[in-house]
Amino acid sequence: MKYNEVIKRHLNINKKRTGKKLDFRWITVHNTGNPKSSADNERRWLDNPENTTSTGWHIVVDGKEAIEAVPLDEIAYHAGTGEGNSTSIGIEICDSAGAAAEKQAVELIADLLIRKNWGIDKVRTHKSWSGKICPHLILPRWNQFTKEIEEEIKKQKSLSGADSSSKKEIELFDKSGNLLGKIIL
Ligand SMILES: [Zn+2]
Repeated sequence: MKYNEVIKRHLNINKKRTGKKLDFRWITVHNTGNPKSSADNERRWLDNPENTTSTGWHIVVDGKEAIEAVPLDEIAYHAGTGEGNSTSIGIEICDSAGAAAEKQAVELIADLLIRKNWGIDKVRTHKSWSGKICPHLILPRWNQFTKEIEEEIKKQKSLSGADSSSKKEIELFDKSGNLLGKIIL
């Protein structure tokens, strides 16, 4: 699951999505803590009138799909601390989908890190912000989970390298070094 495959089903501006800008520096990993709900269920819950909290997240992943509720450049309230919320995006992994959801999350987080040109040190747990036991299913093997992301980064990088190996690619930059585009010959 790459980021461009994530279904964008954004909340309207409300207390879960205030529209405050976020320039995220961390990716915070969560488990939903709900043994039965799918990504779709979790997304629907955010719009349920009975749900009056401001708690939200950016992306939820299950074994089939991923849904983005809040754009990655806006704050969502998921980390339990002001610092966590104002510096990180929250990725929720559905308890219900077990290893399949974790695999999707590993691929997605690797893709996000590659896009940012970041390393695994940018990935952290909800617990690291607020002390909450979250992501409760992954915490006992957090090192293994981050190793899987590192392996996935290598895999995605080598695949994109293989794709372009038979072609010539020229990258165009502006004066400040921003990538303007690529020409493939
Ligand atoms: Zn959490």
